[in-house]
Amino acid sequence: MELELRDFNGMKSTDVLGLWYGYKRIISTGFAAGQLETLKAVFKKYGFLCGMLDKTHDYKKQGGTCILSRDPGHIKTALAAYAGNRFDLIGRLLGYPECCVSYHYKTFYKFTDEFVRECSARSGKFLWPLNNVLDFDGRLKKVAAQPDFNGLGHASLISHNPCSYDCAKSLELAKKNYFYLNKHIRHPGPESDYSLLAKPVLYADDFNLAILNGKSVPGGAEFAGAAFILGFAGLEKELNAGGSLLLRGRVLSISRKGKVVLKKTLSKKPLVLPFDVHASA
Ligand SMILES: [Zn+2]
Repeated sequence: MELELRDFNGMKSTDVLGLWYGYKRIISTGFAAGQLETLKAVFKKYGFLCGMLDKTHDYKKQGGTCILSRDPGHIKTALAAYAGNRFDLIGRLLGYPECCVSYHYKTFYKFTDEFVRECSARSGKFLWPLNNVLDFDGRLKKVAAQPDFNGLGHASLISHNPCSYDCAKSLELAKKNYFYLNKHIRHPGPESDYSLLAKPVLYADDFNLAILNGKSVPGGAEFAGAAFILGFAGLEKELNAGGSLLLRGRVLSISRKGKVVLKKTLSKKPLVLPFDVHASA
């Protein structure tokens, strides 16, 4: 049978592909109240079995969360692992690279809302296929603050938090997902547009970031405006207008035609993540 991604409306395409092609043994998906019966019919069509996760681990607190697999044994193992908070075992069943699983299992209970900053500090390079600044799954503490990225195309080519933005195993997975996404998404449009991932990101914390149309330069960026802004209340206008962005410690400044149009001291040192640098490679 041919896989139709549109059958899995609302689910991450990379997850569905991973399960379909067998590089994920399980995936999980949340669903809204009243949606389960429709989803079950879709799962049955593709031979995916479904086990319900207990309410404690259903972190999105919607209608519920189910674990999907072709193998009932994997569902049983996954539900037991959740019950015992063995997120390392779950990470492996989900097909995440071992280096990323062990790193996150070690640091899980120390999680702040600064995943991106911590990951950046561990990165030698910023490989755009691993850019997951828009993917909040799995690193979300402020559930209520989860942004709505509808219409933005793919938020991420990977469905895990990498141990670094140059993790080789994560890059392999991103390439595999990219290959299968291109095979299954037949109509070009927002769904097949990954260009957002290959742009520099101005980052203050996981809830204040901006994707810039332009290029990163040492200590800042030259940009024509913002492709997307999350948070940064009060700075939107100048970010959308573009210019030369300079970071010095906690101070962010933007100038146009040699004139400073914005100077702002942020509560934490902002960063420019240069996901544009290796974009042509
Ligand atoms: Zn890794």
